[in-house]
Amino acid sequence: MATTTTTTGNTAPMQPHYPEQVTGMDILVRALRMVGIDTMYGLVGIPITELAYLAQERGIRFVGFRHEQQAGMAAATHGYLTHTPGVLLTVSSLGFMNGLTATANATVNCYPMIQISGSSVREPIDLEQGTYEGLDQLNIAKPLVKAAYRVNKPEDIPTAVVRAYRAAISGRPGGVYLDVTTPCLGAIMQAADADKLFYEPVDLCPSMPPAPEAVKRAADILAAAKKPAIIIGKGAAYARVEDKLKKLVETYDIPYFPMSMGKGVLPDDGPLSALSCRSTIMEDADVVILAGARLNWLLSRGHGKWSPDTKFIQFDIDPQEIDSNRAIAAPVVGDMASSLDAFLAEMSTRKMSADPTWLASLQAQTKTKNAKFSERLAANATASPMNHWTALDAIKPIMAANPDVILVNEGANTLDDTRDTLDMKLPRHRIDCATWAIMGMGMGSAVGAAVATGKSVVAIEGDSAFGFSGMDFSTICRFNLPVTVVIFNNGGIYNGIGVNASGGGDPAPTTLDIKARYDKLGEAFGAETYYVTTPDELSEALAASIASRKPTLIDVQLAADSGKESGHIGYLNPAPLETFKV
Ligand code: ADP
Ligand code: MG
Repeated sequence: MATTTTTTGNTAPMQPHYPEQVTGMDILVRALRMVGIDTMYGLVGIPITELAYLAQERGIRFVGFRHEQQAGMAAATHGYLTHTPGVLLTVSSLGFMNGLTATANATVNCYPMIQISGSSVREPIDLEQGTYEGLDQLNIAKPLVKAAYRVNKPEDIPTAVVRAYRAAISGRPGGVYLDVTTPCLGAIMQAADADKLFYEPVDLCPSMPPAPEAVKRAADILAAAKKPAIIIGKGAAYARVEDKLKKLVETYDIPYFPMSMGKGVLPDDGPLSALSCRSTIMEDADVVILAGARLNWLLSRGHGKWSPDTKFIQFDIDPQEIDSNRAIAAPVVGDMASSLDAFLAEMSTRKMSADPTWLASLQAQTKTKNAKFSERLAANATASPMNHWTALDAIKPIMAANPDVILVNEGANTLDDTRDTLDMKLPRHRIDCATWAIMGMGMGSAVGAAVATGKSVVAIEGDSAFGFSGMDFSTICRFNLPVTVVIFNNGGIYNGIGVNASGGGDPAPTTLDIKARYDKLGEAFGAETYYVTTPDELSEALAASIASRKPTLIDVQLAADSGKESGHIGYLNPAPLETFKV
């Protein structure tokens, strides 16, 4: 056997090399290129290091992370923003499991991504003989992903890649797991035989037009509505139907309410925006169109109560979503672009009979509520130390002047207050912790957004949220991405004033570091850094960092008592016994 070291410095003996031969790794890279994959996010180690080198050499950008979960969040965001699957590459066992968290999160959020993981030799795993990183990865992944496949033979790799791609992107998008065993990666084939495996797959993401009678039923209901409204979810953002939705709401004067990541599909400050009228819509609208939004926990219970008389028209690609929580009067199952085309055509033959005072009353309510909100911001504008509102009041005009910046946002109060304060003008410019409301997506999503679009990104992070992914700020720096990370430091989970009731010296469960200098962490990796204690310093720093397009970390010092437990969703906590004392 030859012992020449590889490009990676790998000292394992090289396979005897004949130009007419290829390995499973060669085939995998070629198969990925064949379906158009140009970027991969991951973290290398046995058995996938050589694969990553090969991918990079052959023109697939490899974005290496410090933690697989963040690489996965980047892949998921890439998928959401590009309408093609993002790819995550992980090593076996723990690396695989770290990445799987992001793949599961992608599945629940309908983001298309493929996690490709190396895995150990099968036989000793199946016999539980204790092999290196031996874990039955495929079976662990299965319940958490949309589809899971294992490929054992190099001959099957192109088919496996096409199947994984189709599963991730077609129908309701989601996370797909592709397990590639070490022997398969290293297996040798004659290049001429391998050549015959490749083919151009036809129509990887087929359109799925709805049934004409479903469209007619929906149009009948909308045309008869007195108080119609439309809820725009991230399914609509993903489907890139902003022009069609604009035509629908403007032609028929339909007020719209965006879900968090649906913000900006149509402008938050547009004349038909009913952004601050959520409960009125839930209580009073007689017909509600759900456009790529699920009637899950975010549209029920503590988030408001629907009138029992509301009729729903639901546009969704997944027939299983219909009737999930409420009876749906008119399901329109199909891809949103085809569905809206058909719906607009059908509507053009009808007349609306909406009550004109409905829209006017929502517009009046919007005005009053917006004025109240501005008053609250103004009242906090000079607070010292700053609270969340002070900081957001400083950030708001800078973001408004830079509408094409992608906003990444996570935290508790930092999430809720930022979402309420910052208007979005453009579609797919807000990425947050979404359906599961999880923490730990920030740095990964910021990298994915910057790499996928080339646009500037601002990540507004609670100090606790930042902690989950903080080390991957260094990835932003290594790849020199135009990302500014703004950390709202109130010294804790929710806030920094928790008390240890035992009287002992340990910090309370919610307490972090009010005096931490996160800017120093940025310095370690060569970022531009700022530590700000006043709104003026904050707006100056943010404006300068966006203009510079350089990796930047802004540590925003807040008061420790700014923020309440669980932000807007405190009602989800189990009540402590005290609550029931009479
Ligand atoms: P939000 O949290 O913004 O309400 P959800 O993630 O709950 O959004 O819902 C998104 C919905 O959009 C899902 O039910 C999903 O099936 C649907 N969806 C995703 N892509 C498409 C598409 N291309 N066409 C139609 N519906 C889609
Ligand atoms: Mg905090």
